[in-house]
Amino acid sequence: MEALFQDIQYLKGIGPKRSRQFKRLGVDNVFDLLWYVPRAYFNRGHPDPIKSLKPGEPAAVRAIVKGTHASRSRRGLHIFKALIQDETGLLTAVWFNQPFLNSMINTGQELFISGKVRAAQGLMELNVSEYEILDASSQHIDVLPVYGLTEGLSQKTIRGLILNTLNEYLHHYPDILSPELKQEYDLCDIGFAFHNLHFPQDGTAYLRARKRLALEELLLFQFSLRQEQNKLQVDSYVMHLPQNNLLQRLRDKLPFVLTSAQARVLEEIYEDMRAPRQMNRLLQGDVGSGKTVVAALSMAGAVASGYQAAIMAPTEILAEQHYQSLQQMFQAHGTEVARLTGSTSAGERRSILEALASGEIDILAGTHALIQDEVQFKRLGLAVIDEQHRFGVKQRAALGFKGEAPDLLVMTATPIPRTLALTLYGDLSVSIIDQMPPGRKKVETRFVQNRNADRVYRFIARKIKEEAAQAYIVCPLVEESEKQDLVAAINLYEELRQGIFSHLEVGLIHGRLKALEKEQIMHSFKAGKIKVLVSTTVIEVGVDVRAASIMVVMHAERFGLSQLHQLRGRVGRGEKQSYCFLLGDPHTEDGCKRLMIMENTDDGFKLAQHDLLLRGAGEFWGVKQHGLNQLKVADLLKDLKLMELSQILVQELGKVKADWMKVYIERKFKKSQDIVNN
Ligand code: ADP
Ligand code: MG
Repeated sequence: MEALFQDIQYLKGIGPKRSRQFKRLGVDNVFDLLWYVPRAYFNRGHPDPIKSLKPGEPAAVRAIVKGTHASRSRRGLHIFKALIQDETGLLTAVWFNQPFLNSMINTGQELFISGKVRAAQGLMELNVSEYEILDASSQHIDVLPVYGLTEGLSQKTIRGLILNTLNEYLHHYPDILSPELKQEYDLCDIGFAFHNLHFPQDGTAYLRARKRLALEELLLFQFSLRQEQNKLQVDSYVMHLPQNNLLQRLRDKLPFVLTSAQARVLEEIYEDMRAPRQMNRLLQGDVGSGKTVVAALSMAGAVASGYQAAIMAPTEILAEQHYQSLQQMFQAHGTEVARLTGSTSAGERRSILEALASGEIDILAGTHALIQDEVQFKRLGLAVIDEQHRFGVKQRAALGFKGEAPDLLVMTATPIPRTLALTLYGDLSVSIIDQMPPGRKKVETRFVQNRNADRVYRFIARKIKEEAAQAYIVCPLVEESEKQDLVAAINLYEELRQGIFSHLEVGLIHGRLKALEKEQIMHSFKAGKIKVLVSTTVIEVGVDVRAASIMVVMHAERFGLSQLHQLRGRVGRGEKQSYCFLLGDPHTEDGCKRLMIMENTDDGFKLAQHDLLLRGAGEFWGVKQHGLNQLKVADLLKDLKLMELSQILVQELGKVKADWMKVYIERKFKKSQDIVNN
């Protein structure tokens, strides 16, 4: 096995210079080389006839060179053209800035080229991106891999080296699947898989190879997650959830009846809490479906059983809001609720830590300040994570280690398919609130171009006058910088306050304000004093102000669907008809599409699916959090079946092949970044 991790420098035909070039590609050793997945393939067996080419489309052509011509443009760009011909017609192939081609490509040669077609003065032209001069030695192979290149390395060099490696080193690569498993699940050998990933014999062989290697990646990915999570698979408290006291009283005092979906998931949670194993449950529910009250009643269950409970939120505003509502709910019952965030003063913090350790505090609401080592509970029985997608695996694990294996409940409004959830979260069970509280009106959603912003402002002014409406106006991140973000919000705030809303109370809230200031502003917005609240994205998640009925999102094209839906979810919580205006000037097709989907869909589950498809799983989930970007072959959206299989197999393999899997994970997943880092 050591042979696999031999430095590439010592391979045949590679010296220090070549090895540096490969290292630029992230290829350090034999192992990396085997996993250097082609980014495309040349299929010389199925060229496009020249007659069939259409401008604007990609094409691959196999033809004979009839003549060549090298020239320079006025700006000094080297242009090389070759007139080529197949049985169906003539075509001009064009290369830019490769002066050396003049001595390489000659009349009479056979070429295989691919690139994009365009129409030029009556004749088709092909802008060449890949080319191959066919000679006797390469004639017999139809499908060739195309690799990502770096300066100084050619396709030929990489292909040659990979071919050598396959022949000389591949037998060192352990096949983690037994013959029985391979037969049972119709999987090929690992050797066959690597050969046919790089040099597929034919389409069928390629698909088999791909399947095997995608599974290999998913298996190892699963395994690495399990390593983290196994630490969580431990015994935990048995809670008795006595029905006669706190629990019942709280439920009776709710200002509404739980929806049947809420009641069902609450029962699922209680069942887990009563069991002797640590709960690991994901609660998915659309924005506004009422997850908070489920969390609160779960925490009440822990407190009623004599344990402490904690809830962790991604922003201070949200933590504060949880604190306020829990306080209100529990106050009359002698239950002690506290809050801990980054801006809790040192003195207050000290006394909170003491009261937590002594068991005086029953419920703690906070931000990630809550997972610091100094925070020690006396008997933490339940930990809730709100808006899970904002946290990483590590933070969840950190909370799971507090005390003696508390039950864990993670909540998200950004739902993902169950299989994917199981992959990303390993052993999580999933509960879904698939029903909205009664009486919710659909939020009228309109996409409005920037130049019509004034109409929206006039509409808001009218609604405030006529029906005492309140509005949020959210400015997004501009140019990826918090500072710019702030400037944009401040400018808009000043403009509105001195302009169209000069007769009204306008507020400004953003992440840089002190906790107390934020609190005061949210408070006067809730109290109805502030009518228009200009904000950066700090209010994106979770904030609950029932009277607010208008949401304006500036530069809406910069947000993803799930984020827009989160923002829109801030309104439509009361009796009034609510409105969401998405302002923007989308320049891309995707941007337009997103805004149109928003106008037509108010189902967060459907939006999350769209989002996954439009943005890809990595982008959607924040690639770095999961090491997903190390998956080179597997596709999280398409390989759901394989994902299920990997979940079955990882159990067994984890026992017998753990050593190799650990090495592998080290190489493959932890190379550029810690998989659970974040
Ligand atoms: P989310 O699931 O997005 O976190 P919240 O928990 O903030 O949603 O709930 C949204 C609003 O709906 C809150 O104002 C809450 O009081 C209210 N609510 C929750 N459950 C019910 C219910 N069963 N009937 C009526 N209103 C409810
Ligand atoms: Mg919420």
